[in-house]
Amino acid sequence: AKEMGRNNYQFYTPTMNAQTLRRFELENNLRRALDRKEFVIYYQPQVEIHTGKIVGVEALIRWQHPQRGMISPAEFIPMAEETGLIIPIGEWILRRACAQNKAWQDRGFSPMRVTVNLSARQFLQPHLPQYISNVLEDTGLGPQWLELEITESLAMKDVAFTEKTLIELRKMGITLAIDDFGTGYSSLNYLKRLPIDILKIDRSFIHDLNTESDDVAIISAIITLGHNLKMKVVAEGVETKEQLMFLRQQQCDLMQGYLFTKPLPVRELEQKYLSNNTK
Ligand code: C2E
Ligand code: CA
Ligand code: CA
Ligand code: CA
Repeated sequence: AKEMGRNNYQFYTPTMNAQTLRRFELENNLRRALDRKEFVIYYQPQVEIHTGKIVGVEALIRWQHPQRGMISPAEFIPMAEETGLIIPIGEWILRRACAQNKAWQDRGFSPMRVTVNLSARQFLQPHLPQYISNVLEDTGLGPQWLELEITESLAMKDVAFTEKTLIELRKMGITLAIDDFGTGYSSLNYLKRLPIDILKIDRSFIHDLNTESDDVAIISAIITLGHNLKMKVVAEGVETKEQLMFLRQQQCDLMQGYLFTKPLPVRELEQKYLSNNTK
């Protein structure tokens, strides 16, 4: 399913209803976007709070639409998921991000992890670990430089499957993270069983930190929980110095957010951050 050739477009037949038509247009648009290489990856640094060092970058996709300009993943990832096109799109992102990270290492930048988000359909594919192993082999990226994120709600959907898949990925040496933590309903008993390295506190908690005292308690509880389970904790969506000060005081390990930088295109990331990272 790597190549989505031009011949794969479907054609309209008059029996289709409006909803089917809408879906089919979407699917064709997304498929065309992939063929025409309209997707781009931006990268957002993950920074170690006590050293200020960049230890990784999260790959975040954007759609550079020829007419509509830059389209956010929040708009098209759900559609891609709905139509199944998330599979080829997700494979493209994974390959691209791994190849990019290898290229940075080959150019002598200090090694860091690249973090890729896995959607539900992608994660539920039966041969995902084998596929990822092929991507690492093809690109030459060491597994310790790849991190995969799944959301808390996805992880908890079918815990037995999650556990089995994560154990395989962990055996390969890949770092595993739970995204949007605190928004789903984790059974702590299951969480303990999963081979997770990193918890990412959902940015809604960080955002309301100043106005809602409950969030102070929740963040501090998540950090303690993560540390007790030998996990590192990342705060996402950090926008202010006050938030950072609080997180540092709570011994949160890593931060990601506009306070440091927004996600950036490759060239800009290299110019602003990566060269400084080499010693
Ligand atoms: P996410 O995985 O939770 O990614 C973090 C989102 O927070 C990103 O939005 C990022 O730009 C944004 N963000 C980072 N720092 C701040 C901040 O300080 N303040 C605020 N307000 N926002 C901040 P983005 O890039 O629009 O992505 C939205 C969502 O789309 C992601 O949420 C993820 O669920 C999905 N997504 C993005 N790229 C991919 C991808 O390659 N594959 C899959 N499956 N999903 C993706
Ligand atoms: Ca993420
Ligand atoms: Ca998140
Ligand atoms: Ca999210």
